[in-house]
Amino acid sequence: MSTLKLATNALHAGHDVTTNGGTRAVPIYQTTSYVFNNSEHAANLFSLKELGFIYTRLNNPTNQILQDRLAAVEGGIGAVVFASGTAAIATGLLTLLKAGDHIVASSSLYGGTYNLLSVTLPRLGITTTFVDASNPDNFDAAVQENTRAFFAESLGNPKLDVLDLEAISAHSKKAEVPFIVDNTVATPVLLNPIKHGADIVIHSLTKYIGGQGTSLGGAIVDAGTFNWANGKFPEFTEPSAGYHGLKYYETLGAASFTFKLILEGLRDYGGALSPTNAFNIIQGLETLPVRIKQHSENALALATWLEQQEEVAWVNYPGLESSKFKSLADKYLPKGQSGIVTFGPKKGFEAAKAIADKTKIFFISEYWRYKIAYYSSCKYNTPTIKYSRASKCWCYARFSEIVCWN
Ligand code: PLP
Repeated sequence: MSTLKLATNALHAGHDVTTNGGTRAVPIYQTTSYVFNNSEHAANLFSLKELGFIYTRLNNPTNQILQDRLAAVEGGIGAVVFASGTAAIATGLLTLLKAGDHIVASSSLYGGTYNLLSVTLPRLGITTTFVDASNPDNFDAAVQENTRAFFAESLGNPKLDVLDLEAISAHSKKAEVPFIVDNTVATPVLLNPIKHGADIVIHSLTKYIGGQGTSLGGAIVDAGTFNWANGKFPEFTEPSAGYHGLKYYETLGAASFTFKLILEGLRDYGGALSPTNAFNIIQGLETLPVRIKQHSENALALATWLEQQEEVAWVNYPGLESSKFKSLADKYLPKGQSGIVTFGPKKGFEAAKAIADKTKIFFISEYWRYKIAYYSSCKYNTPTIKYSRASKCWCYARFSEIVCWN
């Protein structure tokens, strides 16, 4: 585990200049494959007798630097990168679970993840019970005999609910299942879920970590804390039919899940990150500590200003004194509450559309840096929208950033 400060790790971790030709900047290893010294060397790499680069679908030196850097900033023992955040979530769950397994998840999730859990995974026999995460006991109440994971977003997108990670983690420990936390909105600079009991942390690197809007990417960081030998995960303790009879836990111990993600997840589902995108994301990660602080300051300034406007019905930002998540934000996000603000104009949906259409600098876009978006409850039937219904606002707009660099 690194003893350096987070900002130092964001700049330097994983890049050993002595083994990368003395390059100051991280090099892009744009190669699909690697030359083996001889057939014995190849056989040793595949059987894990020796560690090394095999094929870029599994591993790559540029991606490895990003992986090591992400593990350092999140406080994990290892990380694996993927072609997108969605690839990370899907591959992570499919590597961990099988037909018949069950997930308990927060109902406040990014819409794509909600769809994966509610529609796509059930087709494969993996079901989810969604719970209101504002009461951590709901996780406990939803546990079934076949539950194999808890899933939540540390700062829900876009409901911006701050989770009581420690309370939920206590329930996951009682249920003996891994607690998986998507930390995309908070980023490792504002919150390290592993410090609060998460076993696995997921990121969409596409958002604040990449920061420039050039590259999709995703990551899974493994805390190395989960006991895969507790009897609920035989795929970790019995010989793997998919990898030469490897007994993951016996051979790899705390790093079992990290290796399973590479050896089975990336090999079989193929969602590898391109080395050029890994390079682009590294450029973003290097400045993340200063950018996310600025995003948070900007968002709080915008939210505070919006609260004072006569035309605005409600403003949702966990850093506001008026937020029902303020005390949890003080505990879990004291350095800032990230860059998303949601609000509802008093005049409703048409007014929200007018704001979205007329606002300058921000674009209606899927990317967070200059984003303004609006949602209609008719169009999206996700828990997020049920929440906005509950708050009697049938539409809202959200901003990611108020001020650009000047
Ligand atoms: N997780 C969260 C919280 C997100 O907001 C998103 C996308 O917006 C994702 C995961 C999916 O990431 P990607 O778009 O990189 O697939």
